[in-house]
Amino acid sequence: MSNVQHRQIVIIGGGPAGYTAAIYAARAMREPLLLSGFEPGGQLTITTDVENYPGFATAIQGPWLMEQMLEQAQNVGAQIETDYVTSVDFVRMPHEHRPFVIKTDSGLTILADAVIVATGAKAKWLDLPQEQRLRGFGLSACATCDGFFYRKKRVIVIGGGNSAIEEALYLSEIADQVTIVHRRDSFRAEKILQDRVFAKRNIKILWNRHPLDYLFDEDPRISLTGVRVQNKETHVLENLSADGVFIAIGHAPETHLFRGQIELKSNGYIAVEPGTSRTSQEGIFAAGDVADDIYRQAVTAAAMGCMAALDADRWLKQRATPDAKA
Ligand code: NAP
Repeated sequence: MSNVQHRQIVIIGGGPAGYTAAIYAARAMREPLLLSGFEPGGQLTITTDVENYPGFATAIQGPWLMEQMLEQAQNVGAQIETDYVTSVDFVRMPHEHRPFVIKTDSGLTILADAVIVATGAKAKWLDLPQEQRLRGFGLSACATCDGFFYRKKRVIVIGGGNSAIEEALYLSEIADQVTIVHRRDSFRAEKILQDRVFAKRNIKILWNRHPLDYLFDEDPRISLTGVRVQNKETHVLENLSADGVFIAIGHAPETHLFRGQIELKSNGYIAVEPGTSRTSQEGIFAAGDVADDIYRQAVTAAAMGCMAALDADRWLKQRATPDAKA
């Protein structure tokens, strides 16, 4: 493959938004290139049961769903590369000198007439002391990846959204005891998930606890032993011991590559024109969790991917024949 390529549509990101954009762009005969990064499939590859993606009467597995989307995109003519975008230039060249420039880890320079950003969001951490060192030594943000290590042990899940509840339910099938530590006195997770957690005998819930520090041993090497929390009502400090702690406190958008290139909202998500996938830069479109701080579902990401491909296709058509109506 040549080191410099030209494409009509390049899609950055391989989750439901990216794959759906690839399916629609390929069917519009735009021969899209999708750069999926090194962990294709996005957040759904670290999910187990998916029960709310329409079209499946019973639970399906997240990784399987992503494999199906990938195959579908390839079958209709999209090229998918597991390459990582290291830099983009969406703004420097004057208007008439487009295309946009995308550089990748493998040394490719891709010139793109239109770009769809679908880089998704990544798990947030608490940013407490020693967090980086403890990751992999008792501290995790992915129960489906690391739950296996806690067979018949005691684990803590921190958070109160869908992720925390799903992680707790998953871990309750493996560990002896699961404790959910939440900073308020009610969950924001879907009611159906909450009911399942309340019905589990080996899941305990500690409300109104604010995590302060990780507890750990350093002999013979660093290993987590629990968390210190403060009870927000009584202000009492409590040391909660556990063999593993799972952080499930939400996600942050993957937008570091695009800072200064397109407009971001104050919370870091890409700003799009309401009801469209158009960003502040003409020719750059955004879809899925990277541009969605409200819904953040696989099905809404897929729908936004479809919108982005249609918007990009129309924009390219209009640019080719400026007098034609988009
Ligand atoms: P989320 O809904 O934003 O929930 C984050 C949770 O972490 C909240 O309970 C929050 O507490 C807590 N939290 C945040 N920062 C914290 C901190 N510094 N210390 C302690 N607790 C903290 O995030 P999510 O659960 O990852 O879900 C993200 C989106 O994906 C949601 O829209 C969710 O519905 C969706 N999702 C869907 C599924 C599914 O449909 N099967 C599965 C997973 C996620 P507060 O409640 O006090 O703010």
